[in-house]
Amino acid sequence: MHSFDMQIAGEPRDGEESSVENPATGETVGTVSIGTRTDAIDAVEAAADAQKKWAESSPNRRERALLTVAERIEANQDELSELLVAETGKCLATAKGEVLETAQQFRFYAGIADKIRGDTVPTPTNRFNYTKRVPYGVTAHIIPWNYPLLLGSRGIAAALVTGNTVIAKPPSQAPLSTMWYGKFLVEEFPAGVVNIVPGSGSEIGATLSDHPSVDAITFTGSTRVGQQVLEAAAANITPVDLELGGKAPAIVLPDTDIENAARGVAQGIFSNAGQNCVATSRALVHEDVKKEFTDLVVEKAERITLGSGFDSATDMGPVISAQAQDDILGYVETAQEEGATLRTGGDIPDNPNLQDGHFVEPTVFDDVTPTMQIACEEIFGPVLSILSVESITEAVEIANNSPYALAASIWTDGLHATRIADLLDHGLVTINTFPVSMPQSPWGGNKESGLGREGGYEGVEAFTTVDSVVIEHDEMEDTF
Ligand code: NAP
Ligand code: MG
Repeated sequence: MHSFDMQIAGEPRDGEESSVENPATGETVGTVSIGTRTDAIDAVEAAADAQKKWAESSPNRRERALLTVAERIEANQDELSELLVAETGKCLATAKGEVLETAQQFRFYAGIADKIRGDTVPTPTNRFNYTKRVPYGVTAHIIPWNYPLLLGSRGIAAALVTGNTVIAKPPSQAPLSTMWYGKFLVEEFPAGVVNIVPGSGSEIGATLSDHPSVDAITFTGSTRVGQQVLEAAAANITPVDLELGGKAPAIVLPDTDIENAARGVAQGIFSNAGQNCVATSRALVHEDVKKEFTDLVVEKAERITLGSGFDSATDMGPVISAQAQDDILGYVETAQEEGATLRTGGDIPDNPNLQDGHFVEPTVFDDVTPTMQIACEEIFGPVLSILSVESITEAVEIANNSPYALAASIWTDGLHATRIADLLDHGLVTINTFPVSMPQSPWGGNKESGLGREGGYEGVEAFTTVDSVVIEHDEMEDTF
């Protein structure tokens, strides 16, 4: 059993213990000391005390610390992956991928340490103007449970390399893996540079969101909570980066390998049990290939083996909680009432070995129309809606007609792919793949899917602001 304390000002801190369940079995995986408002405030103060000195540390010092964290994550990848499987239910291969990409993010940002430059600005008079990128100061990182390592570390690495200090708030449902590698962070950086306070969103998250000494916030999670964070941050005009929900359309056109498209869309919706902000949850399929595509996707869904993420035969694990399972089954019920055709799944699997976990069968609905609830709302589970379209114009219209605008994919071999990409109002567009995250590449949503970008060089911009310095070479005129 794993057991973790909070990390504040370089010291572990005890608190009320909260246990974390394995969603595949209901067993307790470990415990974590959860913080109170007072602990969150102490963490902010520790981060504020440490910040100036950290910002003045050499790029080389920051690079080394980030690289060491990457190395330690890689050296401990098996243990860390297993902990991630235990607390989220995801498949071991998915967890390993997440752990390695987390290490890669630290490497990517380590490499940027000595490459962040300001500018010199042409000015009309005898003035010299230069700019520099400066850290915001104290940054709060509010993290979701679906990819806690990947999504948490993206902001943490970028914030640290640019000279910010960090308070991380891990997700209540899966805090352990963040606590585990968080010890590396606490050890590799000076005291107070990284603080980690698990606890409820309404207490720790809310305290960080409106604290006047927090200088920037990054939040990854639901649109509803993102709005609350933005509102709280308004009290101090604190800049907020929001990485929110999605309802990603996958436009499937006849001029491509339909088997390949079916493979991609099935992976896009069923990997991580559909608990993915960029899950390909709406397939907008041209009528000429809809039957072929649907049959192929259904066949793939029916081949998926449900089980424990630790079992190498497992293709898909459980969803995160009993509540999530109920919510997903509620969507299935409404879809049937609204007239969608259930092609496969839609229930709890009847395998007696899976009854203690929160499993939902891979589910495919055909004959979905754009106004049905399953076509509009983020389900965050393994439920694919298939809609028939007659033209690219219609597909683009349906794809864009959503408050969510995080990711969209296009499945075509035609050169019109980039033209379609231009027409799609989504932060992330992929052609012949489902949306993928890469440390080098910016990430973020439009409309109600988010505000700002993380990842890539954009991550540096997300955690810095630009200060402008002007030198006047002429004497002041004597005007008074
Ligand atoms: P969530 O319920 O919004 O929670 C996200 C984080 O916010 C958790 O750490 C949560 O703490 C905290 N929180 C809750 N209430 C808060 C409050 N009042 N103030 C501040 N923080 C608060 O989201 P989730 O269920 O963990 O994740 C699923 C959602 O995240 C989906 O909508 C998904 O699309 C989105 N997501 C987006 C991206 C992206 O890159 N755009 C990536 C992954 C997920 P507790 O855990 O204690 O509740
Ligand atoms: Mg304890």
